[in-house]
Amino acid sequence: MDALLGALGAGEGLSRFVGGAVRDTLLGLDVQDVDIATRLMPDDVMKRLRKAGIKAIPTGIEHGTVTAILKDGPVEVTTLRRDVSTDGRRATVAFSDDWREDAARRDFTINALYADPLTGEIHDFFGGMDDLAAHHVRFIGDALTRIAEDHLRILRFFRFHARFGKGSADAEAVDACRARSRDLMALSRERIADELLKLLALPNPAPTIALMLELGIFSAVIPEIDATSLVRLEQLLANEARTTTAPDPLRRLIALAPQDTGPADDIAARLRLSNAQRKRIGTALTPNTAGPMEMLYRWGPESSADRLLLSDAEGDVIAAALTRIRASERPKLPLGGGSLVERGLSAGPVVAKALQTVERRWIDEDFPGPERVNAIADEVVGQLLDARQ
Ligand code: ATP
Ligand code: MG
Repeated sequence: MDALLGALGAGEGLSRFVGGAVRDTLLGLDVQDVDIATRLMPDDVMKRLRKAGIKAIPTGIEHGTVTAILKDGPVEVTTLRRDVSTDGRRATVAFSDDWREDAARRDFTINALYADPLTGEIHDFFGGMDDLAAHHVRFIGDALTRIAEDHLRILRFFRFHARFGKGSADAEAVDACRARSRDLMALSRERIADELLKLLALPNPAPTIALMLELGIFSAVIPEIDATSLVRLEQLLANEARTTTAPDPLRRLIALAPQDTGPADDIAARLRLSNAQRKRIGTALTPNTAGPMEMLYRWGPESSADRLLLSDAEGDVIAAALTRIRASERPKLPLGGGSLVERGLSAGPVVAKALQTVERRWIDEDFPGPERVNAIADEVVGQLLDARQ
């Protein structure tokens, strides 16, 4: 990092830490990824990093971003910018050498703090330090204007409020988000899904989801989310807490969705979720009466946890089932169709049917080992062969 800072002229005030890294450091939180803002032009950044022997990738060089690869991970170095034009979805930017201009195009005051890497001095143009101390998430400038520039900021507002806010949400922001919620329809569904899942990954998104519901934020894009969704989400959060289960954003989205495979898959398709995600949603919502070990056998640990944590069973029952699943390997039927043929069945549909019978008995007998399964297979095949005579 020191070599990078040296190459970027941090000592001469040319480059500063910015954004999440500064905010999270000031809050005493672990820093996820480090962003650097610089007055240097992107090609100069590339040149200086190469000269210092630091690997530099021009990841978004036309927008001013160069990624420096350090041994602790990548660091994004972005030239100061100002917006030239915006249309709610994307911005055309120009490079700048003015820190304040760069700060003004950022979304929230707590996200626009700059730190001098050498002295630690904080540069705060819009009252971000006070807002950070008050845990208040506030747009820089006029909220309606900032949302008109970039509609995604509606969802970012709720995400950052859920993450850092204490007390009631900023009134101006709330009014602006309510008034402009239909603008979300202009965004790509992928970006909406990405933001929503990031919100749902936070430790306790429920109060913010409740606020969004009250304000009608979902009605344009996911009108299926309603008051019953919130009850299910809270139930899931209680089950997570009881079983010390880490937040899982997709599982929480399943809780918000209608508890029916068809309508839930409509949402998944609308949000352009992956086939794997859609399959997981379908599995979680397909009715079944399987016990915990049968769940683990059929669907694996993740989907079994989905079904249990999303069920309305008693908390103790869910906890006991989940403990059992966590302590167990996924069972595997220790025999295949081939060994039924070896026992005398002729290849064909009868084998699949017999295998299902063996499997059912194996499950009902609570997953015994190969010896017992062989005995079951002998019996099942024997009965079929007898019946044929
Ligand atoms: P996280 O820990 O979630 O990554 P972050 O603050 O680093 O938090 P990013 O989404 O990575 O958030 O964005 C980095 C910085 O870029 C933000 O802190 C903010 O200053 C600016 N930024 C990102 N998205 C926008 C946006 N849509 N409008 C204005 N500024 C934005
Ligand atoms: Mg970030």
